[in-house]
Amino acid sequence: MKWVDVGIFVVNRHMEITLWNHFMARHSEISEDEVIGKNMFACFPDLPENWLQKKIQSVFLLKNFAFTSWEQRPYLFRFPHNRPITGGCDFMYQNCTFLPVKDESNEVEAVCITLMDVTDVAFSQTLLKEALESLGESNNRDGLTGIYNRRYLDKHIAIEFDRAKRYGEPFSFILFDLDHFKQVNDNYGHLGGDEVLRSISQRVGGMLRTTDIIGRYGGEEFAIMLPSTSLEDARILAERVRLATEETPVFFQNREIKVSISMGVSEFRPDLPNHEQLIDEADQALYASKQGGRNRVSCHTLK
Ligand code: GH3
Ligand code: MG
Ligand code: MG
Repeated sequence: MKWVDVGIFVVNRHMEITLWNHFMARHSEISEDEVIGKNMFACFPDLPENWLQKKIQSVFLLKNFAFTSWEQRPYLFRFPHNRPITGGCDFMYQNCTFLPVKDESNEVEAVCITLMDVTDVAFSQTLLKEALESLGESNNRDGLTGIYNRRYLDKHIAIEFDRAKRYGEPFSFILFDLDHFKQVNDNYGHLGGDEVLRSISQRVGGMLRTTDIIGRYGGEEFAIMLPSTSLEDARILAERVRLATEETPVFFQNREIKVSISMGVSEFRPDLPNHEQLIDEADQALYASKQGGRNRVSCHTLK
């Protein structure tokens, strides 16, 4: 048979192989002589027998063409692929067609199965999908600090707000802002300032539970969302974060940069009209901390 870069083989009603082309012989390392007249499942015990039986029987029955793509079933035969081992796929990815072979009286006497090597296509599609997924994730991240960005926070605070409203769960929100950050930039340069933002983000992030969400809300302003957390528990956490920040300077070019933060805490109440109001109340509390002398935690209280 002419050499083609497609696997072609034919099976009869008893699943005996009646044709086996060069591609099949080369990739299975089993020659035509060894398989002709033999049951395909006996020759290849790794084949998905139940599924493949059904597929082939349906072609006999319906006299129709059938197709399977690598996305439904990555491969039929465990053929090695010739790509470098870079993870992802262990075997050659295959698209298969099942064609009825008819006799003079239009009865299906055999089924011809073709097999295309689509490893390259599958591989690049998988890479593309991964790239798109990580792009989706990077859309949610702040470029400087790696924590969530404003966009993500705005979306999720609305979600958490609705959840708290529906289930009556507590939900607290913290805003904090670095004190006299302009001076940090003035004294240590913008790069020193950037290092402070990165360090504080990482450090505070490490003090939270996995269900808490920290993000960069603006230039040197951060937000923490605390689902299932009362105002008092949020205040205790905020106080820990404030103290840790005050006590742990940031190292930059062998220098110690001392920083402090002012914090505002607010808590969900069923009568709050929307999440903007929750943010606004944390902002008012933050303002009170600044007014009160900075390096402190204030909670929003009803007048
Ligand atoms: P306060 O205690 O009242 O908050 O004083 P402050 O100096 O921190 O307040 P202000 O909001 O006036 O200044 C914030 C400064 O933060 C100004 C801006 O240049 C700096 N800043 C904002 N974003 C960045 C950034 O990404 N990197 C650096 N290095 N500085 C930033
Ligand atoms: Mg500031
Ligand atoms: Mg500010």
